[in-house]
Amino acid sequence: MSLIYTVKQNYEKLPASLLKIAGALYYRLPLEKRYGSDFNKTTELLKSTEYLSKEEIDTLVNERFLYIVQYAAAHVPYYREKYAEYGVNMDSIHDVRDVVKLPTIDKEELRSHRDQFISDEYRPDDLMYITTSGSTGNPVGFYQKKSMVMTEWAYVMHIWSRVGCKPDSSRLVLRGKKIKAGGNNPHLFYDPLRRELSCDVFNMTEENLENYCVVIEKYKPEFVHGYMSAIVMLAKYVETRSGGLKHQFKGILAVSENILQEQREYVEKVFGTRVFSFYGHSERLVMAGECEKSSMYHVEPLYGYCELLDRNGNPAMEGDITGTGFLNDAMPLIRYRTGDLASWSEKEDCKCGRHSLRLAGVQGRWNQDMLVNKEGALVSLAALNIHSDEFDHLVRYKLIQSEPGVVRMEIQPADSFTNQDAQRIKKLLEQKTGGKMQFNIYTVRSIPIMHNGKYRIVEQKIPDIMKIGGGSKL
Ligand SMILES: [Zn+2]
Repeated sequence: MSLIYTVKQNYEKLPASLLKIAGALYYRLPLEKRYGSDFNKTTELLKSTEYLSKEEIDTLVNERFLYIVQYAAAHVPYYREKYAEYGVNMDSIHDVRDVVKLPTIDKEELRSHRDQFISDEYRPDDLMYITTSGSTGNPVGFYQKKSMVMTEWAYVMHIWSRVGCKPDSSRLVLRGKKIKAGGNNPHLFYDPLRRELSCDVFNMTEENLENYCVVIEKYKPEFVHGYMSAIVMLAKYVETRSGGLKHQFKGILAVSENILQEQREYVEKVFGTRVFSFYGHSERLVMAGECEKSSMYHVEPLYGYCELLDRNGNPAMEGDITGTGFLNDAMPLIRYRTGDLASWSEKEDCKCGRHSLRLAGVQGRWNQDMLVNKEGALVSLAALNIHSDEFDHLVRYKLIQSEPGVVRMEIQPADSFTNQDAQRIKKLLEQKTGGKMQFNIYTVRSIPIMHNGKYRIVEQKIPDIMKIGGGSKL
């Protein structure tokens, strides 16, 4: 167990002065001590396998795939039964190409049979219980080995290292985390142990944003780490602030929310540095990160096996991310349909020299980032791409849909917003959607974020949107 994991349960209770001393002492310890063996072993493995040839990667992937599938069939009651029912012959499973011989599983199955997914070699008490964020109102719970926390962090750091972020790098954190009370300002908190300056994303008022800028200029965090919606809010403020922000970040590490091209371009323009992101999920089956040369996502081959499946369960260039995780044999998830929609890159090779497969983009969840046109076809939010000229004049917007072909667009305007902008945006969106969607624009005073600090652009009220026909392309 890592030192940081052990102490973090308690140290936040310390008064600020002691915390500062604790932070200074902590950073005198060698890296191995601070992050523990799971972190170090994973980091070493990732470094030594990052630039392997395609054949070498395939060999490692096949080994891991076979191990987890055979283990699940032998030790996990749910797979024993399901594979028997489907007549799966385990002797016919030799490598990942045989994955199609196995049935897929989904969230509903996991929800209704949760405990049957636990390996007979583990007890729930030995494991961590995790639930998905539940933004859909129906969270799924599952168990993970405790070692997963630092293994996961090693993967994240490995991906972030591509933009120069190290385990010791300082970060401005804009996430849904509750801010520790008791400091001078209830909306921000500097943690010297993690080198994190956390700012409250629930109250991004002008007054607070000004305070955030002052403190950013004081602590000079190297990177921004947080939700894109909150980062955009900060950028909007910085753009209008007299003198801008007197600090240059080394990079923007965006997490947890899908990133729209317009947001990426805008934030890169305001902060003059790159937005960098990765794809991951609470189930820990597939992780994929951008690289130095491209904003497509390289799938981490040793983390889990990634397939894209269409609605009928067949492999497709665009489809549901379906994962087989390699890291958690305590509760293996094999061919688990995540509900996240993505597409494969057409180009095989990347200039960075890595040979792992790439996802061209993750377009979001079927029921969260999709609109329906009047003919019943799905339209991906990513395809709408409001150009940055228009985007400059709004603070936030929301698309609410209750019937196919009609969208209520709520706009929280910036000071520079005019009626002409509203007309331009309406025209642009209706043109982009080929006249098959009507956008009714309303300006509102503010658009609230969700209880977890995240923000969702589409509020889709049409039930069972996944069952609606048509493709997701315009
Ligand atoms: Zn690359």
